[in-house]
Amino acid sequence: MRVKPLAAPVAVEPPRSGEDAAGCVACKTPDDAYVWVSERWRVRAMDRPTGLPIVLILECRSHLDLGDLPNLLAAELGVMTVRLERAIRSLDGVARVHVNRWGDGSAHLHLWFLARPYGRLQLRGTFLSLWDDILPAIPEQQWRENLALVAAWLAEFGGTAIAEPPHIQWESPSTITLSPTADADGPEANDRPATLGEFDASRAAAPTIAPENGAPANGSTPVVPVPRRIGRLFRD
Ligand SMILES: [Zn+2]
Repeated sequence: MRVKPLAAPVAVEPPRSGEDAAGCVACKTPDDAYVWVSERWRVRAMDRPTGLPIVLILECRSHLDLGDLPNLLAAELGVMTVRLERAIRSLDGVARVHVNRWGDGSAHLHLWFLARPYGRLQLRGTFLSLWDDILPAIPEQQWRENLALVAAWLAEFGGTAIAEPPHIQWESPSTITLSPTADADGPEANDRPATLGEFDASRAAAPTIAPENGAPANGSTPVVPVPRRIGRLFRD
C-alpha cells in the first residue's frame, strides 16, 4: 500500500450531495428502503453484505445536519445512538461498535455504525471502515438475520421494523443457497464496493477514506448514496 501524495488544498470546496433539500436522496427515499423507521428517525443498511457483520446508518427524517439539530432531535440522537449501539453489540460475534459521523459526502445527517468482529484485534481502531471493504463479504443469510435482529431490537422501543429474517423457500431448495456475493472468490466479488459507502459502482462517487488522514480521497463531489430499495431484499 502506497500513501497518496497530499494534494494542494482547493480554494472552494464543492457542494455535498443533497446540500439543497430538493435534491436530497435521503429525503426522497421511501421507508421500505430502510431497516427500521420511526416518526423522526430511520436506520438503513448497505444494499448487500460487506466484510463486517453489519454496517448501519442512522438518519433523522428532517433535512438537517448534525449542528443544525434542535434540542429535541439532539437529545433523541443520543438515545438512538446508545440504543443502536446496544442492538448491534448484542449480535453474535460482535465485539465493538464503531460510531462515526464524517459528513463530507452528504449534507443530510447520517451516522455510521460499524460492527467490529470479536477477536479480530487487527481491526481495532480507525481503519475499521477500510477493513469492511478488504474482508470477504459475510454470508448473505447471516447478514439478513443480523439486520432483522437489530430491527426487531429497535422496534421493541417503538417505530417499525422493516427488515425481516430471510425466508426459507421449501418448495425450491436450490433457492436457499447463499448469494454468490457471500463468496469472496466468486465472480461477484469484484462487484463489491471499493470502499465503505462506495457500495454501488453504478452510483455517484462515494467518499473514499484515505488511510493517511481519514479524509475523502476521491475529490470532486463525494456523496453517500442511499442503497437501492433494500426492502425488496426481504420480500423476495
Ligand atoms: Zn435530506
